[in-house]
Parts: sequence; C-alpha cells; structure tokens
Amino acid sequence: QQHSKSFSEIPPKSQSPRALPNPVKKVKATFVTLARNADLWELLSSIQSIEDRFNSKFGYDWVFLNDEPFTDEFIEETTKSISGTTKYGVIPYDQWSVPLWINSEKFKEAREDMASRGVIYGDSISYRHMCRYESGFFFRHPLMDEYEYYWRVEPSVKFYCDINYDIFKFMKQNDYQYGFTIAMQEYRETIPTLWDKTVEFMDKYPNFIAEENSMPLISDDDGASYNLCHFWSNFEIGKLDFLRSKAYLSYFEYLDKAGGFFYERWGDAPVHSIAASLFLDKEQIHYFDDVGYYHGPFTSCPRDEKVRKEGRCSCNPKEDFTFQIGSCMNKYYKFRGIKKPSY
Ligand code: GDP
Ligand code: MN
Repeated sequence: QQHSKSFSEIPPKSQSPRALPNPVKKVKATFVTLARNADLWELLSSIQSIEDRFNSKFGYDWVFLNDEPFTDEFIEETTKSISGTTKYGVIPYDQWSVPLWINSEKFKEAREDMASRGVIYGDSISYRHMCRYESGFFFRHPLMDEYEYYWRVEPSVKFYCDINYDIFKFMKQNDYQYGFTIAMQEYRETIPTLWDKTVEFMDKYPNFIAEENSMPLISDDDGASYNLCHFWSNFEIGKLDFLRSKAYLSYFEYLDKAGGFFYERWGDAPVHSIAASLFLDKEQIHYFDDVGYYHGPFTSCPRDEKVRKEGRCSCNPKEDFTFQIGSCMNKYYKFRGIKKPSY
C-alpha cells in the first residue's frame, strides 16, 4: 500500500523538471509509527502537530506498521494529513508471536506475578510484543529498507515549537546516530536481569564496545550495575545503520534468546539506550534541547528564550521535566561536560 500527495514535487509551470537546478538532496528518511487501527484518532493529532511544526516544510515520508492490516479509514485519514508519501506495512507473524524457545508456563507465571505486584503493563502480552518489535524488528521491515534515518512517532504526542531546520540533514551532517529529548529512569521491576545479560554480552563481545562510550550515563559504578537511565524511545531520531549493525543485531539476538522480553517486560527504551550508550561514540548521541515535546505525562520544554521565540513554542518552561526528579539529564549534562542552563 503506498500513497503519495506530491504537490511539493510538482515543478513550477514555466520549467520542465530537467531545467530545474540540482536541488540539495533530501536525506532518505522517514517517520515511523507502530500503531493499531484503534490508535487512528490519537495518531492524527500527533501527525497534525508534527506536520504543522516541521514536516509540511520538508515532506518526509511516513511508514506505518501494524500486526494487523490497516483499515481503509486509517489509510485515508493518515494519508490526507501527511505531506510526504505514506506507506503501510503488516508485521510478519513470527515477529509478533511468542517464540518457540519461550516456556509458556513460565511466561504465564511471570505475567501473573507482575500483575499481582501492580507492574505497569505487567500482565500484557501485546505490550511485550510491541517492546520486542520496537527493539528488534521495525528497522528490518522491507518498507524501511530504502531509508537511512527514522523518526519515531506515537499517538497523542505534541510538538510545541516550530522546527525550522531539516532535522534529518542535521543528523547526517553531524554524524549523529541517535537523538533524544527526554531521559529518565526505568521501572526496575520490568528489567531485573537485563543488565546481567548485558554484562554477559559485553564479556563475550568486547570488540563491540565503543572506546568513547557512554557507560557513565547508564551505570554509576563503572558497569557493575545499571542505574535505570534510558532515553525515552517514544521520541527517537536515529540512523538505521546503527540498529542494523552487527553489534546491535547480536545484542538484540542475545537478549531475545534470554527470554526477558517475555519472562520480564523489557522495554525497547532501555534496550536501545544501553546499546547506544555502549556501541556508539558519545559524540554520536544528540540531545535535542530545542524540541518542545510532550508524551504523557512528561513535557520537554526548551529553556532557551531564543529557541522559544523563534520556534513560537506553546509550552510552559516551568513544566519542563529536564531537571525534575526521575530525569537523568543532570547526569547527562555532567557526563558530557555541558553547562546547565541557569534559568
Ligand atoms: P506507552 O507509551 O509505553 O504507554 O505505550 P503505547 O500504548 O503508546 O504503545 C507504544 C506504541 O506501540 C504506540 O505507537 C502504539 O500505537 C503501539 N502499540 C502498542 N500496542 C500495540 C499493539 O498491540 N499493536 C500495534 N499494532 N501497535 C501497538
Ligand atoms: Mn505512548
């Protein structure tokens, strides 16, 4: 399924396409959203926000993925709102089902146990498939093959400021491989053995660990334990080659075989974040302090007066989560040696 609304590609009437000067090449990049048909209306508000604040100026594509076929209504409503080409893909069954090596009795007990302790999404099977898919598979969907960068978008998010530059070009020009807006602590109960498995992996494949890694961001004791810090992956701008790399794929494979996506409730956020922190050079991770963003219940609101003015931001900087309890940004500023804003 492919739909395009290509007004931005129509050349001016007086010129044939050939006569146009060579345009600055657009980066091969796409928005990507995993969603259910029922998420349509909440998604349309995210789309409106991102189109108004960014994409109407650039016309990037948008890939939608679902474990079921999208409805005609979903396709029509999203296509009409997006300036770029929209594409709709179904997820292969084996990427959204319980793998053979998972013991279903043990899995059931784990869900019951987590539910009884009130762990958020602790009893959900579909949430686990979602986390595993976002961890290991979305970037391998054939619809993603042609792209170099992705920007993940979820339903019901808001963008509070105009983004007046081409973010994908910015990523490419600076050789950034992973970009985030909010970093916070994960619920420990969802990932009791994730760090143990990560340590095993590091011992087995020390060659995958970057020299200039970001270990101090994710561990306060030089790797002995995980401090629960992760980039909040509902917003994510990344280079697909990072997720397609041997290091990342081996890491995912190792975690997947360990079963923690099912026996525990490993999220894609800590998985992506640990991988980015260990396998990438710290300079390849970018903090977007200029992107006003909301995903319930947290807001990231730029503090820089100039950014707020030029971006016509509509958020309250007093609600900014960056330096509140639970955020990992104090650590980030310290680790990267960046001066914290004084306001
Ligand atoms: P939360 O932000 O962690 O509370 O989780 P969300 O409910 O926002 O889900 C994360 C993303 O996965 C969103 O883009 C959802 O639309 C999508 N998602 C969650 N569950 C499913 C599912 O069962 N099927 C599909 N196709 N998408 C899902
Ligand atoms: Mn969400």
